[in-house]
Amino acid sequence: MNQKTNRTLITVVLILIAATALFGFYTTSGNHPEESTISEISTFVEKGEVQKITINNDEIIAKLEDGREFKAFKEAGVSIQDYGITTDDVPIEIKNPSSGEFIGSLLSILLPFLLVGAVLWFILRQAQSGNMRAMSFGKTQARLFTGKKKISFKDVAGAKEAKEELVEVVDFLKNPGKYSAIGAEIPKGVLLVGPPGIGKTLLAKAVAGEAGVPFFSLSASEFVEMFVGVGASRVRDLFAKAKRNSPAIIFIDELDAIGRQRGTGLGGSHDEREQTLNQILVEMDGFETDERVIIMAATNRPDVLDPALLRPGRFDRRVIMELPDRDERKQILKLHANNKAIAKDINFDNIAGATPGASGADLKNIANEATINAARNNRKEVGQADFDWAIEKVLIGPERRSKLMNDKEKKITAYHEVGHALVGHILPNTDPIHKISMVSRGSALGYTWSLPEEDRKLVTKSKFEDEIAQLLGGREAEKLIFNEFTTGAQNDLMKATKIARDMVKVYGMSSKMGPIQFGTRDEHIFLGKELHDERNYSESIAAELDAEVKRIILDGEGKAKKILNKYKDKLESITKHLLENETIDREEFGKIIGIKAGSGI
Ligand code: ADP
Ligand code: ZN
Repeated sequence: MNQKTNRTLITVVLILIAATALFGFYTTSGNHPEESTISEISTFVEKGEVQKITINNDEIIAKLEDGREFKAFKEAGVSIQDYGITTDDVPIEIKNPSSGEFIGSLLSILLPFLLVGAVLWFILRQAQSGNMRAMSFGKTQARLFTGKKKISFKDVAGAKEAKEELVEVVDFLKNPGKYSAIGAEIPKGVLLVGPPGIGKTLLAKAVAGEAGVPFFSLSASEFVEMFVGVGASRVRDLFAKAKRNSPAIIFIDELDAIGRQRGTGLGGSHDEREQTLNQILVEMDGFETDERVIIMAATNRPDVLDPALLRPGRFDRRVIMELPDRDERKQILKLHANNKAIAKDINFDNIAGATPGASGADLKNIANEATINAARNNRKEVGQADFDWAIEKVLIGPERRSKLMNDKEKKITAYHEVGHALVGHILPNTDPIHKISMVSRGSALGYTWSLPEEDRKLVTKSKFEDEIAQLLGGREAEKLIFNEFTTGAQNDLMKATKIARDMVKVYGMSSKMGPIQFGTRDEHIFLGKELHDERNYSESIAAELDAEVKRIILDGEGKAKKILNKYKDKLESITKHLLENETIDREEFGKIIGIKAGSGI
């Protein structure tokens, strides 16, 4: 049962409870007078104990001074005075039986009907709006995007090449005649390829916005949901809707969720996925370009897509999107800072420099987190400190101050982090140390944050080697001080091993193994194969590869050990400082260490 149905049920139950309560309220009139007789009541009146008498048709209610109530019935046609009770003795109120009483009883009859009617209407409305899936599963969940604020290319910062490619699509949607007149074939499908959060959806919306056409979006993972056959019928429905509203854009997010190569026998519910995929192919082939419906799809795994999707006449146009470079990051940050109260002295270029590898979504998140932090601290403007805080939160992970360490663990963590920092500082090919911290973030107990001076497209062999040494520096510091290893280095080892393996097998950086790639990986279209590389070399080569990987790692370990031994006094003094201050930033670190960065062993 999905959340919506749940919510409906809860609402219905609540309404029923309220109805029962109301019904009870109207049928019993609140308090319960004791049954009595008229003579008894007149005795109370004689004694002067009665505060008030109410007459309701033949019913007499006596309210006593002490709050008790008694009820008795007189005979029809006989007045209360006949029982010796007069207005001289006690105030008597005669209620008009035909007004309040009548409405009360009418309500008590009608109300339940009204409520049942309301509940029925409510349920029907829910079902009609398509939220009750069980009643409308063949209908597409496509959302028509008609936001008031039209998204245009201006809302997508950077991504220059991608926009250039798509200008043509916009033009076609606007002026189809221009193209058909000279017989130009317009693509039906455009595949946006790039990592998550890079702005693929945003760009597709911008194309729709620029062309002024409706945007139907659907996430591929929603296709494959409940019953076999649903996905295919949703696809039919989606295309039919778009055609009715043409010119239009259909956007399919996460295409790889259904578009994986068919017949691999892997990946779960196959029939459903294949039927859905087949239906997409059928629809794409079935309509003519003059129908002016363009299908845009996004994926970060083009390698696993079924080749049938990429054939001419289908998704034959690809727009590759890459993570933003420093300048693009600056533009994206500025764009998202536009509607926020940002301090004037904020240097967006510096922030862009501190966020290599961040996607557009990350940067948006950073701007937003910074603003939230400023508001939380009652600041009128978002300052640099807020951005620093947000960058760490988004890129490294949220602070986990509740993760308490005992004193011994704190000490170990401090030495470990300073070990990384010291080795990284001394070696010539690593990135400068930006910050050392003992505040737990995400799953890390502490962290050493190195930051490149500028974005890098190429990585050298020496940098890989120094990085491995830096990664092992944490563990080596623990060994040097406590003569013991802990589990804290697990992640470091994983990263170091991956670098060493890639050096040998992917980049041909081992002179012993030569410029050969060993194993095949991502070029595989096959789902499942990505999980483990296919081995295309012999057993004896495998042993040699392992030996090379091991040698590289041990070399790194040796380097780290050497540096830490040589600068043990620095290791001690910086750790002391870190334990006292929790964090050390770049400047402070430079001051305490007093050795030029990259001076080597
Ligand atoms: P994807 O579809 O590639 O996963 P989205 O388009 O959903 O990424 O991007 C998520 C959000 O990140 C967008 O709504 C937008 O606010 C922001 N964003 C991403 N890239 C950019 C960009 N180039 N310019 C401006 N904002 C961006
Ligand atoms: Zn570490």
